This record gives sequence, C-alpha cells and structure tokens, in this order.
Amino acid sequence: MRNPFETEERAAFRASIRSFVEREIAPHADAWDEAGDVPWALHEKIGALGVFGFGVSEAYGGLDFDDCFMRAAYSEELAKCGASGVAAALGGRSISIGPIEKLANEEIKDRVLADIVAGRIGSSLAITEPSGGSDVARMKTTARRDGNHYVIKGEKAFITGGMKSDHFVVGARTGEGGLDGISLFFVDADTPGFSRTELARKMGWWASDQATLMFDDVRVAATNMLGEENRGFLQIMNNFNYERLSMVAGMVGMMKVCLEDSINWAQQRETFGKPLIRSQVIRHKIADMSAKIDMVEAYLNHICWQANEGEMPVAEVSKAKFSASKALEFCASEAMQILGGAGYLRGNRIERIYREVKVQAIGGGSEEIMRDLAVRQMGL
Ligand SMILES: Cc1cc2nc3c(=O)[nH]c(=O)nc-3n(C[C@H](O)[C@H](O)[C@H](O)COP(=O)(O)OP(=O)(O)OC[C@H]3O[C@@H](n4cnc5c(N)ncnc54)[C@H](O)[C@@H]3O)c2cc1C
Repeated sequence: MRNPFETEERAAFRASIRSFVEREIAPHADAWDEAGDVPWALHEKIGALGVFGFGVSEAYGGLDFDDCFMRAAYSEELAKCGASGVAAALGGRSISIGPIEKLANEEIKDRVLADIVAGRIGSSLAITEPSGGSDVARMKTTARRDGNHYVIKGEKAFITGGMKSDHFVVGARTGEGGLDGISLFFVDADTPGFSRTELARKMGWWASDQATLMFDDVRVAATNMLGEENRGFLQIMNNFNYERLSMVAGMVGMMKVCLEDSINWAQQRETFGKPLIRSQVIRHKIADMSAKIDMVEAYLNHICWQANEGEMPVAEVSKAKFSASKALEFCASEAMQILGGAGYLRGNRIERIYREVKVQAIGGGSEEIMRDLAVRQMGL
C-alpha cells in the first residue's frame, strides 16, 4: 500500500535499513537465534546507520532530528529478518535512550550517551518486577534518600539486554504508594550491590537476553535521578509510547513475512493436482492477511503523522498495539496453516514468528492493559 507520507529521505532511509538487514542479518538470523546471541559487532554496525539516534542531539552522536516514520521503517525492516529476538537484542538500548537523553544530567550524558547511541555499549530499561509489570504504580523497589545519595533496594524481572547492558534506567519508589511516589534512576552495572541472573528457557526471542536484576542497597548519587522526584510514572508512560509504536511497526514487518512466505509456498505447493494458490480457501486466507496488514499499517502511518506534529495520541497508540498483536496472531496462525507440516519445523520464519506472537501481546503493555488504557483515554 502506498504511504501518502513517504518522502525521498524516508524512502532512502528505509532502503538503507532493508539492504543492511538482507545482507548482514537475514542470512544469520536463524543461527543467531538458535545460538541465543547476536555478535556485539551488529550493535555497532547498525548503530552506524543512525537507528539509535532519533531525538538525540548531534553532540551525543544523535541525528539531531526525530521522525516517527523513520523509526517505524527501522523496526519494520528489522523484523523482516524473521527473528524478532534479533530486534529485541538491539531494542533494550532503544527504549532506554529516551529517558537518558531527556532526563539525565550533563555528566551522565557526556560519559555514556554517544557510546550507547553508537552501539558500543548497551543500556536497558528496568521497570517490571517479579511481583508484576502491568501495575507500574505498585512497584516495590525502593530508593531511600541518604545524604547526597539514594540507596536502591529491590528486584526487576524480564529486563531485555539485562545481562549485557552497562547502564540501566531503573524505576523505584521514592514516595508514598501509588503513581505519585515513583522516580527514575540511572544506574551503572558496576555499582556495588548490583547483580543479575539470566532468564533461561524462553518461548521465543532467543537471540536476545533477558535478566532478573537484583539491587541490594545499591548507592547512587542523588544526581543520578532522572528528571523530577516522584514524577517517574509519567516519564515511564511517555516513554512507553515510542516503545509501543516500534512494536507495532515490528509486527507489521512480521505480518508481511507471514504473507510473503504464505504466497511463495502456496504458489509452488501442489495439492489435488493444482497449486495451492488456486484453492479459494487459501486465497481467502491471503486476502484476510493482506487486509489486516493494510489496516495496521495505515493506522500506524496516521499515528506517526500525529507524533511528528508534536501530539502523541496515547489512545490510538494503545489501540494500534493490541490491534497489531491480534492481527499478527491471525497472520502467524494462517501462515502456519498454509505451510502445513513444513511450517512446523524449526529453521523457518513462520515457526519462529508463531512462537513470538505472545511476547508482542504481553511485553511493552499487554493487550488487556492497552484496551484498558484506550478506554480510560476516552474518559470512561
Ligand atoms: C521477553 C520479555 C521481555 C521483556 N522486556 C522488558 C524490559 O526490557 N523491561 C521491562 O521493564 N519489562 C520487560 N518485560 C516485561 C513486560 O513488560 C511485562 O511482562 C508486561 O508488562 C506484563 O507484566 P507481567 O508479565 O508481570 O504480567 P501481570 O502484570 O502479572 O499480568 C498478568 C496478566 O494479567 C493481565 N492483567 C493484569 N491486570 C489486569 C486487569 N486489571 N484486568 C485484566 N487483565 C489484567 C495482563 O494483561 C496479563 O495478561 C518483558 C517481558 C518479556 C516476556
């Protein structure tokens, strides 16, 4: 479907990401996923294309501009490698750069931001806790003021990039219960009292690492607080918008893979003396998949236009996120059905995408929470 917001610059940016993914990622995605890791050089190579620099000033190695369409193009093209764990391995950094760029003091930014943006070092966002991720306002990790320091105590769970990141943006309770008592902190991984263990045996996203982080009286300078004290909930919610949009764009890429692989297979596979593509049942599956992709893509483009206008339509971002994961669930299931037994075998993109639907439906704000947020935005 033609995008009315496409410009020469956006098309060129998308083309550069697409050719990088085809050349440097797709041929290795399966092996990396099976091995449970991507080479660190990938972070730096893709960082050199500017993909981590949106909204970051040139002084810190950023692009000095932001463009939601380019952000979306990056996520979509990357997802087309067929292993969204590769995107997740790179993505912990993406969702933590915003708070560092917007809220960290100059010392921290001078020390780390250019290296993070270039992909030389990793950073992660740590909000979810073992006791729950949906109800952010009830987080239990505390940060107690002690002179010129805060002392952080608690645990974070499921943190993407957690085993490899050098720096963390951590949510912790600094005030009374509820959403008004949360603050964000910048924490270096080598601070005494910090430790981590890897989350093993996941359903998908094998190429990326997730960790449980332990904070056992981790002392950080008071100046490591990101933004205002007790305003962390709002900052976390604002940051979620771009995370969710990038997930929607990634799901568009995953659905396009489902469609492409379904069409290719249906054209070459013969049953009952004719190609599968001639069967009306299969043709209808392809029509339904294609229509769902168009709808999510058009919705995403509209939201990107609004975001570029300086508004962030929270209700629409939420609706787009659960609409995309529902559409992806449909496309992955139908693609698997079209491929038949061949789709069930490890080493093909559909088998992996089928396993990776659920993390899209749960991570970054689950379908239930997205629906709830959308309705609350309607004033209900
Ligand atoms: C692979 C992976 C990577 C992740 N990476 C990160 C990361 O980098 N950083 C980070 O901070 N977090 C990360 N997360 C955590 C993720 O954001 C949470 O899993 C998610 O927010 C849901 O939280 P939960 O799993 O604790 O589920 P819970 O909050 O315990 O909820 C359980 C289920 O109940 C539903 N539910 C909850 N409340 C209600 C309600 N009131 N009404 C109806 N249904 C409800 C939820 O939708 C969910 O389906 C990651 C998770 C995964 C699986």
